Amino acid sequence: MKTLLLLLAAVVCTNIVCQKTTNPYPYKNHRPTSAGIRKYVDVNQEQFFQDFRKFVGDSLIEDTWIDCDDLSTYVQHDSLELGCFYAPQEILCTTEELYVDYRLQYVSKYRRSQFVETNQFVYSTVMHEIGHMYWQQVLRSMGRNAVLPEFLQTLRVFPYSYGAEFLEEGLCEYIPYTMQEILSVDDYKPRSTEDIINNRNTYSIKYRYARLFVTPVIQKYGLRKAIEIMVCCAPPSIEEILYPEKYYQRLVEK
Ligand SMILES: [Zn+2]
Repeated sequence: MKTLLLLLAAVVCTNIVCQKTTNPYPYKNHRPTSAGIRKYVDVNQEQFFQDFRKFVGDSLIEDTWIDCDDLSTYVQHDSLELGCFYAPQEILCTTEELYVDYRLQYVSKYRRSQFVETNQFVYSTVMHEIGHMYWQQVLRSMGRNAVLPEFLQTLRVFPYSYGAEFLEEGLCEYIPYTMQEILSVDDYKPRSTEDIINNRNTYSIKYRYARLFVTPVIQKYGLRKAIEIMVCCAPPSIEEILYPEKYYQRLVEK
């Protein structure tokens, strides 16, 4: 009996050791450390691009090296993003131990901690940033003449700038949201134009609502075609962002 117990204990210990050694990314208190985030990104470089290509069904992407850094130290960094993309193909992922993801707000504590511990929030950041790279590549492959000049030339002019960024962020959010299966149903909708231009709502509008806004276009045409169609029309106005049907009709008429 004693031998059996010892044997059982040995099996349990081996399992514990195995479980610990199967997670190669340093973490503390069930959360990846900065070093853990960096290692996860380094080790999975190829897998990220493979997954992205498979999801998009397009071979256009040229792989690049995804780097990590503490983005809070960057002067021009948008604090709402956990990663950033510099055209044509530089992607940076933050090593800050933030663990934020709006999609986690309505899920159970258990699923949330699983999502964090396995670096899934880093995975969504990476997919979002590759989405920006893909958006730019589709635009470049179309050539300047194919893209509506209004779309390119007025990007710095409000409200075109807002509408164009809104579409791109929405598409980039659609990718991880759909790839990782819906963690929580999120149907946030602004109720007025004031809701849209209110700075306190930037995150909800630019990411959460923008994803909902572009979803019907992507579902109808596919990712690549959706980008091609959207950049051949003027970006949505604030009014059209509030009433998407007006924008969709304009896209269809094209
Ligand atoms: Zn973005």
